[in-house]
Amino acid sequence: PLTSNDLIEEHRICVCVRARPLNKKELTMKDLDVITIPSKDVVMVHEPKQKVDLTRYLENQTFRFDYAFDENSTNEMVYRFTAQPLVETIFERGMATCFAYGQTGSGKTHTMGGDFSGKNQDCSKGIYALSARDVFLMIKKPNYKKLDLQIFATFFEIYSGKVFDLLNNKTKLRVLEDGKQQVQVVGLQEREVKCTEDVLKLIEVGNSCRTSGQTSANAHSSRSHAVFQIILRRRGKMHGKFSLIDLAGNERGADTSSADRQTRLEGAEINKSLLALKECIRALGRNKPHTPFRASKLTQVLRDSFIGENSRTCMVGQKQSCELTVDPSAAMDIHQGGHN
Ligand code: ADP
Ligand code: MG
Repeated sequence: PLTSNDLIEEHRICVCVRARPLNKKELTMKDLDVITIPSKDVVMVHEPKQKVDLTRYLENQTFRFDYAFDENSTNEMVYRFTAQPLVETIFERGMATCFAYGQTGSGKTHTMGGDFSGKNQDCSKGIYALSARDVFLMIKKPNYKKLDLQIFATFFEIYSGKVFDLLNNKTKLRVLEDGKQQVQVVGLQEREVKCTEDVLKLIEVGNSCRTSGQTSANAHSSRSHAVFQIILRRRGKMHGKFSLIDLAGNERGADTSSADRQTRLEGAEINKSLLALKECIRALGRNKPHTPFRASKLTQVLRDSFIGENSRTCMVGQKQSCELTVDPSAAMDIHQGGHN
């Protein structure tokens, strides 16, 4: 029988880390870069060049990942090693999932959705759009063309355990599980898309719906999971599904004592769903028959992506260069030991 290591080697699960560059504020505040990526799969945490509170830094720890992307990496490069290898999976009747994980401000939305920072919003370079681009290339290949597949997209948000449709003015949706353990988001808009442009429009609509008027660390958008899906259908039946997920910020509970009740509840809900996700991915990696998907709305909605022989997952742990440690749970502890 296959061991979990065999499965990881088969790239059923891929765990990466990406460091974003220091921003202007961090540079002017002399925030310190304490991580270095010396090779394509190692992250080193070391002393800062200037001394602050050395007792708070771990010395020269190294962590190994499938891939480590430094601050000079582009979305296109990150994409090539993370989501791109999964595109074929959905044409081969599989389920693919790619997550961005990390604290608020670490670059999850930049990686998944694209550049929304300036006036010139550009979602064409995010992993959502790059994946869509390749789906439209792949569908033209003779092997797949003859299948006569149709492509659909959905975009929704999970906030405090509730599902909202980002393609339909944040309509609140119910999640139902039928007798055959099929999970359904009732009324979720599934839009047919014929080209990358169609997809870009949907990403824009969904993102403006998601982020409207909110920028702070406690904003709704940073407390919610955004799920963008590309679904292939053949004669109406699901053929494959690619779920691309911008997870809620995994902030530490440090300020929870000062936070209000609502914020604490949200934080607890996020922790619960990230823990459930970790458990489900572990179960997937070990080919366990029972996946604890009911533990949160996020994992419930993704149920069909955690079961079945042809499911593959990629995690992108996002890092801010000034974070004190590389939290091994950035890799969600999927690789046992996490570091060496
Ligand atoms: P998150 O979604 O994790 O809260 P964002 O994606 O919004 O974080 O990123 C926070 C800020 O950092 C944004 O202004 C974003 O444009 C910028 N940023 C993130 N990653 C990068 C990167 N790789 N290169 C340049 N700017 C980045
Ligand atoms: Mg974000």
